[in-house]
Amino acid sequence: MKKTVQDYIRTIVDFPHEGILFRDVTTLFADPRGFRMCIDQLLHPYAGLEIDKVVGLEARGFILGGAIAHQLSTGFVPIRKKGKLPGAVISQDYTLEYGTAVVEVHDDALASGEKVLVVDDLLATGGTAEAGIRLVEKLGAEVVGCAFIVDLPDLGGRRRIEALGHEVHALCA
Ligand code: 5GP
Repeated sequence: MKKTVQDYIRTIVDFPHEGILFRDVTTLFADPRGFRMCIDQLLHPYAGLEIDKVVGLEARGFILGGAIAHQLSTGFVPIRKKGKLPGAVISQDYTLEYGTAVVEVHDDALASGEKVLVVDDLLATGGTAEAGIRLVEKLGAEVVGCAFIVDLPDLGGRRRIEALGHEVHALCA
């Protein structure tokens, strides 16, 4: 019997490139017990804290963020890849293994001083999460936590986010 969140995640070899071990969370999301356990455990450290908005990073952060926002009775704000949001946006670029990428948020999605929980499925180098945090802070909102299902510690993401002064909550490595 599967008991932990980690038990529901499968690893796909050589995806999207040779040599990569991709953590596939769709098997976790597809299981009713696994998905509920995952959302409950992601929320656990934030019980009783004041949170105004949940910010989810494209794309699996939307699935988690929507469920968490519903549970907390907060609004949900998507951070999307360049060119996907219809309204006026602010942008943040970040470095990938090869080249750079840009993420965006609507410029009116967060109000100054709002308290925000940032969520995504996986923390690797931390580049995506850092870009998301920078967008939240550019709008004057405050990051109260960053929650992930998986933290790959060897890739340095946790250190990078902690160096920005933010706590990382992850369910497994
Ligand atoms: P980072 O910017 O921290 O290097 O990479 C994290 C981002 O890439 C996250 O948005 C995450 O969804 C995606 N990502 C990178 N590797 C994996 C993986 O093995 N599994 C999953 N599910 N997402 C990954």
